[in-house]
Amino acid sequence: MSPSPPRRSRASSSTPPVTPAVQIDLFPETPVVEALDPRTNVGPRTGVLALVRVRMRASEAPHLIFHDRHGWYCETHGPTCLAVPVAREATA
Ligand SMILES: [Zn+2]
Repeated sequence: MSPSPPRRSRASSSTPPVTPAVQIDLFPETPVVEALDPRTNVGPRTGVLALVRVRMRASEAPHLIFHDRHGWYCETHGPTCLAVPVAREATA
């Protein structure tokens, strides 16, 4: 008599595929650009030439882009914000 070796049950077939929980930036959404009136939103005597609200993604807070004598800059992130060139192109 030769007893057969114990079989190990394999769980490989039941391993689910790994799905990323957070979508990375491979397929960015189209940004939504909305030009605002500086006099209405900043003040009647503002020196702001352009005020643009840029929403890069629907799930993120919008960027508020200013254009004044200092140039273009984001209210939150400054002139290097990635929404600044989007606002400039949209208002050009
Ligand atoms: Zn920004």
